[in-house]
Amino acid sequence: MISAKEALSIIISSLPPKKVIRKHLTDSLGYSLAEDIYADTDQPPFDKSAMDGFAVRFTDLNKMPAELELVTTVAAGEIAGMAVAKGKTIKIMTGAPVPAGADTVVMKEMTKENDNKVVFMEKPGYKANICFRGEDVKKGRKVIAKGTLINPAIVGLLATFGKTHPRVFANPSLAVLATGSELVAINQKPKRSQIRNSNSYVLSAQLQQLGFQPDNLGIARDSQKELESKLKAGLKKDALIITGGVSTGDYDIVEPVLRKLGVKILFNAVAIKPGKPFVFGINKIGSGKCLIFALPGNPVSVFVTMHVFVKPALLKLAGVGITDGGYLKAKLSGGKLRQIGRQQYIPALLNEERNTVAPVEWHGSADLVGLAHANSLIAIPPDEIVRQGDYARIIKL
Ligand code: AMP
Ligand code: MG
Repeated sequence: MISAKEALSIIISSLPPKKVIRKHLTDSLGYSLAEDIYADTDQPPFDKSAMDGFAVRFTDLNKMPAELELVTTVAAGEIAGMAVAKGKTIKIMTGAPVPAGADTVVMKEMTKENDNKVVFMEKPGYKANICFRGEDVKKGRKVIAKGTLINPAIVGLLATFGKTHPRVFANPSLAVLATGSELVAINQKPKRSQIRNSNSYVLSAQLQQLGFQPDNLGIARDSQKELESKLKAGLKKDALIITGGVSTGDYDIVEPVLRKLGVKILFNAVAIKPGKPFVFGINKIGSGKCLIFALPGNPVSVFVTMHVFVKPALLKLAGVGITDGGYLKAKLSGGKLRQIGRQQYIPALLNEERNTVAPVEWHGSADLVGLAHANSLIAIPPDEIVRQGDYARIIKL
C-alpha cells in the first residue's frame, strides 16, 4: 500500500497542462492570473492633488501668515489654463493635476479665502499633498506576477491598467457521482435499509468553496449497467469524483467498471485512516485527460480524502500554487492517540488562543455528526504516538 505522500505525488504528476482562458474582469475574482501584468501608464499618471486646497510655490510661504492672489480654480478632470506665478495661487480640488509652477498644495482648512485673496495661516511641508507622477509604479513595470490569485485589490489594479479581459487559468470542469443501491435523494424519506445521499452535497460544497462548479450526476445503483452510463457522462470532464463502491464487498464494482471503460488505475489503496480504499485513475480522451477520484463511501472518508488529496490537485490544475496542506502544530490537551501503521486524520477542536487541540467525540468514518463539530483534523503519521502535552500536526478546516 502506498503512503499518503506517495499518493499525492502520483496525483500531482498526473495532472494535465493548465488551460488558459480570458475572463471579463467582472468575472475574474478567485481565478489565478495566467499572465504577468504591466503598468500601461505611470501611476499616478500625473502630479495629482491629494487635497482640496491651494496650489502654491513653497517659497511664497516663507513669511507666515502669507497672502497670495487667487488667479483661477482647477477641478478634477481639468487642466489649469495657467501656471502658478510668484505671489499667486490656484485653487485646486482633490484629484486635479497640480498646475505648472506649483510645488506644494496647502489644504483648505489651513487657509482663509476673501474675494481674490487667500491668507495662509499654517505652513505644510515642502511638496505636501501632492501624489507625484509614477510614485506608485512607473509605466512598463511588472505590477502583478502570473500565478497570483485575483482578489478585490488586484481587480482594482487590473481595472487601473485597462485589463478588461485578463488571461487566467481555467477552472477544471467537474462531475460528482454517488454510488450505492442504499442511497436515496435528499428529498426522500429513507425506508429501512436506505440512507440519504449526503456525499454529493459535501463534495459539491467543498468544491464550491474553491470557486468550482461541479455537475451533480446524482446516484448510480451498484449495477454495472447503471454505473457505466453515469460514468461515461462523467469521464468527459476534466475530473470525475465518485463516492462508494471501492471497498472489498461483493457489490463494490466501481474499479472494475472503470477499468472496463478504459480508465488506467494508478493506485487503489492508500495507507490512511479514514479513506484507505481510495482509487485514482486517468482516462485519456484525445489530447485531453480526465482524472478519476473514486473515494470510499463513508462521509468522513470522503471529506478527508477530498481535503487532503483532491482539493490540492484541483487547485493546482486551476493554477493556484499547492501548499503542504497547511499544517500547524498544537498541544494535545486530552487523550492519547495511538499509532496504527497508517496516517490518521482525527476530527478535533483547535483552541487558537491557547494553541491546544483535542479530538471531538467521534465514532469513526461514518460519523458526520462528530465531524460537523470539529474545526480541524489532527494528522498523526503512521509511526507516531501522540500523548497529552505533545505537539500534534493540525490541519485547520
Ligand atoms: P461503500 O464505500 O460503498 O462500501 O460505503 C461505505 C459506507 O458509506 C456505507 O455505510 C454507505 O451506506 C455509506 N455511503 C456510501 N455512499 C454514501 C453517500 N452518498 N452518502 C452517505 N453515505 C454514503
Ligand atoms: Mg456501497
